[in-house]
Amino acid sequence: MRPDQIERYKRHLLVKEIGGPGQQKLLNSRVLIIGAGALGGVAAKILAAAGIGHITIYDDDVVDLSNLQRQTQFSAEDVGEAKVEALSAHLKALNEGVSLEPVQKRWTSDEGLHGANLVLDGSDNFDTRFALNAASRREDIPLVSGAVAGWTGQTLVLNDPKNPNAPCYQCFVPSEPPNAGDCNDLGVVGAITHLVASQMSLAAIRYLIGETTGLFGQLQITDGLRGGSRQIKLPKDPECPVCSKVSAPH
Ligand SMILES: [Zn+2]
Repeated sequence: MRPDQIERYKRHLLVKEIGGPGQQKLLNSRVLIIGAGALGGVAAKILAAAGIGHITIYDDDVVDLSNLQRQTQFSAEDVGEAKVEALSAHLKALNEGVSLEPVQKRWTSDEGLHGANLVLDGSDNFDTRFALNAASRREDIPLVSGAVAGWTGQTLVLNDPKNPNAPCYQCFVPSEPPNAGDCNDLGVVGAITHLVASQMSLAAIRYLIGETTGLFGQLQITDGLRGGSRQIKLPKDPECPVCSKVSAPH
């Protein structure tokens, strides 16, 4: 590590479970982030600050004034700009040591996983969530999933590459729930989106440094209004349309 990196990551180096070897793992890691909005964009900021070596970000949207209530990676002067471009400019200013790959597109399976060690899903629709889960399961790349609505947030880490019997996203959500809405029509509190983005970033860092005990298949639900938080251990669904196929003989 260079002297400027030792200075920049000093507080990580002091954490027993990270230290020099852990920081080097982060510097060598590649993360694919889907969505540059309230979850993906804030997580990108945290992960760029943490020193993730390479970050690919997909988003086809532009910054809107109504985003600024929660998407604190943007400022008022970014309104009207492509989210991936505005975000990349902020990340570059934050940590120019991070190699950035902004893609101004909606991610589909054809885009692949860009050689990522981990995929972070900050998308807001089930088509993308399902396609990303299937790709991540197929390639044995862990998937960090987050979702928010109103005062509630949930975080979940799926597709344990070391355990084919661990659940995937569709073990948890087999098909698109009826009346599924996103924060465009449900409303959402900015503080809960930050909490979930932080939980997702924390999960990513834990995986990348190898601190995976209890990481996979634990649904973490936070009720931001009542102040409660609970964890539910999710089982693999033997009928799952994605991962039961993976383990079945072809
Ligand atoms: Zn599954």
